[in-house]
Amino acid sequence: MELQCPRCSARVSADTNQWRCSCGGPFVLSFSYEFPDRQELQKRPSTIWRYREALPIESDRHIVSFQEGYSPLVLDRVDGLDLWWKLEYVAPTGSVKDRGTSVLISRIKEMGIERIVEDSSGNAGASVAAYCARARVSARIFVPQRASPNKKQQIKIYGAELVEVSGDREETAKAAQRAAKNAYYANQIWNPYFIEGTKTCSFEIVEQLGWEAPDYVMAPMGVGTIILSLGVGFRELRDQGIISHLPHIVGVQAQNCCPFYDAWKSGHKRKTYGSTIAEGIAHTDSPRFEEILAVIRESQGCVIIVSEEEIHKGITALSHRGFFVEPTSAVVLPGLSRLCRHADLAERKVVILLTGSGLKYTPPS
Ligand SMILES: [Zn+2]
Repeated sequence: MELQCPRCSARVSADTNQWRCSCGGPFVLSFSYEFPDRQELQKRPSTIWRYREALPIESDRHIVSFQEGYSPLVLDRVDGLDLWWKLEYVAPTGSVKDRGTSVLISRIKEMGIERIVEDSSGNAGASVAAYCARARVSARIFVPQRASPNKKQQIKIYGAELVEVSGDREETAKAAQRAAKNAYYANQIWNPYFIEGTKTCSFEIVEQLGWEAPDYVMAPMGVGTIILSLGVGFRELRDQGIISHLPHIVGVQAQNCCPFYDAWKSGHKRKTYGSTIAEGIAHTDSPRFEEILAVIRESQGCVIIVSEEEIHKGITALSHRGFFVEPTSAVVLPGLSRLCRHADLAERKVVILLTGSGLKYTPPS
C-alpha cells in the first residue's frame, strides 16, 4: 500500500504524515484487493465494514466505527418516474460524511496520530469531531463563520475545538492548512482514506439492487468528494467483473456557485462566484478538479445547475414526500427535473443520494 501523485508520479509510503505531494498535488492511494464473495457477504453486518477487503486498514483493532453504512434505498415515483432515494442522512452524525470519516479516523488510529485539523462547511467537521471523540483523538475544526449554527454547535458538542474563519470556504481551507503544519490534516478531499470509505456507497447501491449497476446516480456536487468516491467505487466493481457497465454519474451544483458545471460545459471556470443557500456545496475550487471531471466524463455523466428558487422548492417538495433534508441535499430534486429534459429516464434505474439531514440546517419556511 502506497500513496502516488498523479501529477508528478512520485510514490510515498502510506505511513507518511504528508497531506500532499511535494509538488503540491493530492495523493491517490494504491492498493489491491479482491472483492468479497457474495455468499460470504450475506453473513456480515450491515455496515461499511462488510466490504472489509476493500478498505485499507491493516488491523481490525484500529477500526473506529459507529456501525455506519448500509443506508436505506427507498423506491419512489416522481412525476411518473420510478427511482430510488439513498437515505445517506440517516447516518450516525446525520450525513454521508460518516462513511469516509470512519475509514479516515481508523487509519489515523492505526498511524498512532493524536491530533488532527480539518476544515469543513459543517458536515464533515461534525463527522470528524464525533469519530475523534470515539477514538480519543484531539480535533481542531475550521469552519466559515457563516456556517449553519446547528452544524457549529454539533462540532462543539462532541468536544472538538471549533475555529470560525471570516471569509469563504476556500479561505477556511487555507487557515486549516496553515494549522496542519503542527497536526495531521484529516481533510475530506485531500485525504485519500476518506474517499476509500465513501466509495462503499457505490458497493451498497449495487448490492441493494441485486448486484446490478444502476443507469444513473445523482448527488449534490461541491468540492466533489461524493462524485469522486462514487466513481472510484463503481470503477472498482467494474474492474473486478461485479458489474458490466458504469452508471452515468450526475453532479448537481447551485447555479450561483458552479465551477464544475462551467468547466464541463465550456472548459473554463469563472474567477468569482456568488453565495447559495446550499452552503455544503459552496466551493469555488477543488484540489482534485481534473480527477473529478474525469469521473463524470468516463461515466458519460453530466453536471447540472439549479437556481436558488428551485432549491427552495426542492426542500418543500422533498419534505412533503417525508424526506427531511438540508438545502444542500435538496438540489437533487430540481436537478432530476432538469436531467429529464435531455435524457429519457423511463425504464432506467435511477438512484439519487440524499446526503444531509434537515436537522443540520432548516431554512425558514
Ligand atoms: Zn507530485
